[in-house]
Amino acid sequence: MKLWSQFFIPTLKESPADAEIASHKLLVRAGLVRKLGGGLYTYMPLGLRALQKITQICREEIDGAGGIELWMPHVHPAELWEQGPRWAAAREIMFRADSAGDGKRAGRDPEFVLGPTHEEIITPLVKAEITSYRDLPKNFYQIATKFRNEIRPRFGLMRAREFIMMDSYSFDANDEGAIKSYHAIKAAYEKFFKRVGATAIAVEADTGVMGGSFSHEFMIPAEIGDDDVIYNEESGYAANREKATSGIVPKDLADAAPAGALEEFATPGVLTIAALEAAPYSVPGDKQFKTLVFIGDGKPFIVIIRGNDELEEAKLGSLGFTVTRAATAEEIEPVLGAKPGSLGAVKGTIKNAGALAGVFADHAIRLIGNGTTGANKDGFHVRNVNVARDLAITSFGDFRRVRPGEPDPKSGQPLKVRRGIEVGHIFKLGTKYSEKFGAVYTDDQKQSHLMVMGCYGIGISRTMQALIEQSHDADGIVWPWSVAPFQVLICLLDPKVEEAAGVAKKIATAAEAAGADVLIDDRDERPGVKFKDADLIGIPLRIVIGSKGLKDGVVELKWRTSKEVTKLPLAEAEAKIA
Ligand code: ATP
Ligand code: MG
Ligand code: MG
Ligand code: MG
Repeated sequence: MKLWSQFFIPTLKESPADAEIASHKLLVRAGLVRKLGGGLYTYMPLGLRALQKITQICREEIDGAGGIELWMPHVHPAELWEQGPRWAAAREIMFRADSAGDGKRAGRDPEFVLGPTHEEIITPLVKAEITSYRDLPKNFYQIATKFRNEIRPRFGLMRAREFIMMDSYSFDANDEGAIKSYHAIKAAYEKFFKRVGATAIAVEADTGVMGGSFSHEFMIPAEIGDDDVIYNEESGYAANREKATSGIVPKDLADAAPAGALEEFATPGVLTIAALEAAPYSVPGDKQFKTLVFIGDGKPFIVIIRGNDELEEAKLGSLGFTVTRAATAEEIEPVLGAKPGSLGAVKGTIKNAGALAGVFADHAIRLIGNGTTGANKDGFHVRNVNVARDLAITSFGDFRRVRPGEPDPKSGQPLKVRRGIEVGHIFKLGTKYSEKFGAVYTDDQKQSHLMVMGCYGIGISRTMQALIEQSHDADGIVWPWSVAPFQVLICLLDPKVEEAAGVAKKIATAAEAAGADVLIDDRDERPGVKFKDADLIGIPLRIVIGSKGLKDGVVELKWRTSKEVTKLPLAEAEAKIA
């Protein structure tokens, strides 16, 4: 048990000026964190306790799925990243960590970087240590700090520059094994989120920069989330924006587009890009966006891309590729003369429009992309969702997923969109990293094969804040029992009265024996102050011990989730709590 007077919980009446969302305000007001700089936070003693509980539950679940814990360095030799498959994309968010004062390297490639994730570290390690099929499968993980130089750190721990992640990496002898490992981890994630009290849903995700063959994100539904979840309750379908838009074909998009919005129709074999002026919008701190419409063979489909930035051919090409799965970047040769802010003038052609139109024969497709320019160095993330809402989401009636060679099963269910916080992400990677680093093993016939990998991440610190976002009220945090920094708070209204302190100790001992962590508020403060703080820090069970109650032989019990106060005879209190 801890005594409040000897612990450190610096609660605040006011929220910090930079806190825009409830959970961020509460993190600071409840004394859980303090800011050092943009995206950099100290976990204060109370916050650290919650973080450690989440960490421990995560550890138990990943262990349960066969994970083996280790700890890797966070300063990485840059050459490992150069050797890996995504240096160009990843370096944008990486902090360089060269030796101080080494002027020689200024303006040149870094010698060391701080780890944003650890595929480039674990794969060479496994290559060196595992050579035989007998040592496979293996799944290594750590729960540790990650560094990402996010362009817009915000919302407290949600998007930080330094944060805690559980990252895990599976190595299997073959695809079948890799899929098994993937599902074992997915099941562990589901248990983890349930145990910490989070409502997280697994949604299909695009593999993006990571490459690999399939992927799920775990999202906690919340209005302030950075991501969109596109879902349908009846069919159980749920996907993130990138995945959904690259796989789902709305029935008739032309109907959804505002009348007169399509400026031009293309001649067969040529795609023309016209501006759809209908839906400009902005994201806080970001530039204006606009909507572009791609029209092909008289069968319109629409690609919404970032507007006010320069459009680069290659990036648009790769967007097109992602979109269609039918043409390569080389096949798609947009001829764009875009100037910032002048999208109305944009026109382009795509050489292989015939092929594209063939894929989408009778269908209009609406696709959304972003991250096509330097302004968002965070990869292909979609933030221009308001456009989607304005434009067509309500008309997503009939949909089907299009992959060449696959039948297109019709669901006929309307799709809905809601915001979500990405708290976890799992990838079946395949051999992308094992190829680059030569991670091979020999089978029982002495044949050599590439290991098949998966990688998996849970944002531990982001989850902690997402739990607060999901569970709070006007007075403060409402911690789920399993991760509450303390489960029981004993408020001593008259801490100097010896009898009261004695009763508190007895009850605390009983509660601890029953497995709860106990905090005793023994501060010399008015009851009002104590109750306000109790609600603010959100301990699940509050027990009030006052002189008056003791005279009547009772203590008061109150759950944080309820307004009801129960008077409990002293004699029963210990037994009941135990
Ligand atoms: P986001 O889309 O929010 O930028 P991400 O897709 O870049 O996240 P991953 O590389 O998939 O993140 O990392 C695994 C997990 O780490 C994420 O699901 C998220 O919970 C957490 N995470 C990623 N970036 C941050 C951050 N800047 N601050 C806190 N947690 C983060
Ligand atoms: Mg990111
Ligand atoms: Mg993401
Ligand atoms: Mg992710």
